[in-house]
Order: sequence, then C-alpha cells, then structure tokens
Amino acid sequence: MSTGRTRAVQLTRWGGPPILTEAPRPTPTAEEVLIQVEAVGLCRSDLHVIDARPGDLPYRIPFTLGHEVAGRVVRRGPLAVGPATGERVVVYGPWGCGSCARCAVGAENYCDRRAALDADRAGTGAGLGRDGGMADLLLVPSGRLLVPVGDLAAVQAAPLSDAGLTAYHAVATVRRALGDDPAASVIVLGVGGLGHLAVQILRATTNAQVLAVDVREAALALAEECGAHFGTLLQPDTAATLRRLTGGVGAVAVLDFVGSRSSLELAVDVLRTGGELAVVGSGGGELAVRKPGALPPGARISLPFWGTLPELEAVVSLAHKGLLTVEVERFPLSSAPEAIARLRSDEVRGRAVLLPD
Ligand SMILES: [Zn+2]
Ligand SMILES: [Zn+2]
Repeated sequence: MSTGRTRAVQLTRWGGPPILTEAPRPTPTAEEVLIQVEAVGLCRSDLHVIDARPGDLPYRIPFTLGHEVAGRVVRRGPLAVGPATGERVVVYGPWGCGSCARCAVGAENYCDRRAALDADRAGTGAGLGRDGGMADLLLVPSGRLLVPVGDLAAVQAAPLSDAGLTAYHAVATVRRALGDDPAASVIVLGVGGLGHLAVQILRATTNAQVLAVDVREAALALAEECGAHFGTLLQPDTAATLRRLTGGVGAVAVLDFVGSRSSLELAVDVLRTGGELAVVGSGGGELAVRKPGALPPGARISLPFWGTLPELEAVVSLAHKGLLTVEVERFPLSSAPEAIARLRSDEVRGRAVLLPD
C-alpha cells in the first residue's frame, strides 16, 4: 500500500463487476474516525448491490463495497468520540442520521430519517452507498459507530457486525415467544452465514429445541456442529417431518434466513397457532396475508433488519465468552472476485471473509 493511496474494491457501474482499484487515502475531519481494515466479511446483500440495475438502490456510484468490517483505529478527527487511536473495533454497519429518536437509542437500522437520507442518496451505511471496508482503510463518520473487540481475532470480529448482529436481532424478535420453555421449538431455515450463527445464539440464549433446514448437506453438518438438535434437507415431506418433531402442533417460531418462495411456503406450513415468523432473507419470495388464509390464527410476522448498537455489544460479548464462533473461509482482498463467485454459487461454508494482503 502506497502512503497516499488505498486499495479498494469498488462498484463503478451498476450491474458490476466490482473492480480492485486505488483510491485517495482518506483524512478524518470533525467527528470522523479512520480505521485500518483487518478483515471484511462478504455478504449475500453485497450480491444484491452488485446485481442492482440503475435506479434500484438510492446510492451514487462509485463506492467501495464491504459492510462487515473489523480493524484498528489509526486516526481520529478533532471532534471524534469513542474508541482511542490504536483500539481494535468492529464497525456498526447501518449508518442513520445519528440524532432521531431511534438513532438516539442505537437503533440506527430503523432510523426515522431513512427516507430523507435515501432521497438525498446519502447511503445506508458502510459499503451501501458510502465507501465501505473492502479496502485497506475505512473512514467512519463517527466513533459512535464503533464497538471495541479487544483481542478477538479480526476474521471472527468482522462477521459479527452483520451476520452475527442480524442473527441476534432476529432471535431477539422471537425470544419472548420462546420463553424458557424447553419444549418450545424454533425452526431455522437456511444455515449459511447468518443461520449458523442464529443456531448458536438460540442455544446460548434460549432453552428451545432448534430444528434446522437447508438444501445442502454441508450446511446441515454445520448446523449440527453449531448445536442444532435436528437437521433435515428440504424435501417434499419436510413439513410433515417438522410437524411430527414438534408434537404435531408446529414451531413456536420460524426464522427464515432464505426468504424464497419455497422457504416461506415451508415456514407457513410449520408455524404453530399463535406462532412467530421472522423473515430475514431477501430471497424474493412473497407471502399472502389474508384472514382466514394459509397463516395460522394468531400468527405474527416480523421483518427484522440488521440490528442495534446495544445488540452488537451483546454479540461481541457472546463471542468473547466463546459462545459464538463464526465458520469462515478466508480470501485475500485481491481475490474478492473469486470470493464473490463462490458465494454466488452457494459454495461458501459459513462466511467468506476478505483479509487485506
Ligand atoms: Zn450484509
Ligand atoms: Zn436517525
């Protein structure tokens, strides 16, 4: 890395592909903080960004990809708050206005001014319309968006900021329904980057029976390693199998990390009366809501998006206690195109993480 430039994987035109290029080295002003990137996770939503057509997303191009970032504070603006120079941190990815009621409690994922920010094409966060962490350096708008990680390995810390946080937030939306009942069942659909962490979070923070479903044998093996009580391939009789395993009544909660037509169909089929369905994945499936209809009486549906700053602190704490381990495949930053291709063909086990080389 030359002193005046930083390497960056940028989206320079809609429809991609992203290219590894050089960008000017950023200098933090006011509240900004400069991070030396140690690791950056690759997420399925990066594929949605890369594949977007002009006008699909409220972003200006070019910008650097990467919204799952861990690194070290190397320089702070004169008004910066939060972690000191030299501290190792994970970057909270959804960047809101920083001052509305939601942002004030750390829920920038649900910023009240999101529509106005989108209208201004201000970006949704790091790597989402703003320069992200697939680079040697990342400029963060404020230290409020940083959570210290201490000596946690960077490849473990980076995926916590989205895969870990989004899984934790999804579990949080159904935690009350699960209660402490050891007979309560929760079904996890899709055991990829997020799902394998959801299984661990469910085991660490609830007493529920965890049933996992995927279309890949390797993903089911990972679910078992993560503590799932039962795993099954998606087959024509999967709904019947899951109903039998839940005593014929269905699951108290279903976490759908796929969000496709087939996963939503299964979710509705196996949801208990009064059960909770959290749709996390953006797989393009649609759900018809009608009374009476396919959804059971009393069903509740949520669309959790990412998570809050306090939840990111809780996720980091679980990782420090050894209760959360991310299954990672490492790639050098310069191999970002190969990593993206592997994710696209569903070959990544757990999370793909890029390391500046
Ligand atoms: Zn993501
Ligand atoms: Zn806000």
